[in-house]
Amino acid sequence: MSEYLAHNGRYEQIEYRRCGRSGLLLPAISLGLWQNFGGVDGFENGRAMLRRAFDLGITHFDLGNNYGPPPGSAEETLGRALKLDLAPYRDELIISTKAGYDMWPGPHGNWGSRKYLLASLDQSLKRMGLEYVDIFYSHRPDPATPVEETMSALKHAVHSGKALYAGISNYNVEQSRAAIAALRAPCLIHQMRYSMFQRTPESGLFELLAGEGIGGIAFTPLAQGLLTDRYLNGIPPESRAAKGRTSLQASQITESRIAQIRALDALAHERGQTLAQMALAWVLRQSAITSALIGASRVQHIEQGVAALAHTQFEDRELARIEQILTQ
Ligand code: NDP
Repeated sequence: MSEYLAHNGRYEQIEYRRCGRSGLLLPAISLGLWQNFGGVDGFENGRAMLRRAFDLGITHFDLGNNYGPPPGSAEETLGRALKLDLAPYRDELIISTKAGYDMWPGPHGNWGSRKYLLASLDQSLKRMGLEYVDIFYSHRPDPATPVEETMSALKHAVHSGKALYAGISNYNVEQSRAAIAALRAPCLIHQMRYSMFQRTPESGLFELLAGEGIGGIAFTPLAQGLLTDRYLNGIPPESRAAKGRTSLQASQITESRIAQIRALDALAHERGQTLAQMALAWVLRQSAITSALIGASRVQHIEQGVAALAHTQFEDRELARIEQILTQ
């Protein structure tokens, strides 16, 4: 029996935004379990982050079949946390998962076949102890499988009741256009990399999503921690860049990057915010973005993320200064 009782005021602390033209409302800040929730990480820290997030009104937890390490273990962590604490709140939660990257041996343990996507969804549900997920994504486009097949698998997942909505992730403008046409059912959401340091979606994707009434959720809005004070004074031993197991390499933290981060940090402080908060506000200023999907290694990261919502407006001169810093 859980001793956890969710905070009564949880729905007064965060803003909810409509996801495209749909009935689904997502918190402006969502929490992703890509890192720090795996089998190699301490369960109690992950559990504490999930509880704190929910107490702050973060109703959306984002997963992928391969999140860990080892792959699959972040879904198991969520399953345990649901069992211990959050299961009574299932109807308030928006849980997403994805399939698209390497998961099991053989020709159907990866990419975008119907065989892989539907088997993977069954495995994900088992690991999380759920009957359905709220959103099931194709994690990446598959150049070898017809997009019609990948989309038919998403559609089937929705029709079978194992997912409530379908989403796509990492599809470029042309691939998104083709996927939306092939789905022949509403595409709810597009999950894309977007931050001050990664602006590709500004070249056509936001426009497409707005026209189609599809919500956007921005992953790595803090550029995996670069757009925070984490690396201002070197690489802390427990940080993502120090772990050497992920996509953030110490070699990416160059002198010129640090100079930009320092200048952005100074501007954030002029605005009365931390750099992390300014970076989240900057992502959320896009009308095509429903939610900023953050990661965290400690409870304070989540608290700081939600506190960003206290100041999301930018003066023109601040936006101009950011552009100037980013082109330095
Ligand atoms: P972020 O850019 O938010 O980076 C999170 C990291 O930044 C944390 O782990 C922490 O680093 C650091 N951090 C966060 N807040 C603070 C703070 N206030 N002060 C200092 N440091 C801070 O996002 P992620 O890269 O973690 O990605 C977020 C989610 O997006 C994933 O969990 C996943 O759900 C999704 N995603 C989806 C992808 C896709 O292909 N669809 C790809 C990648 C991510 P540290 O650990 O060093 O403390």
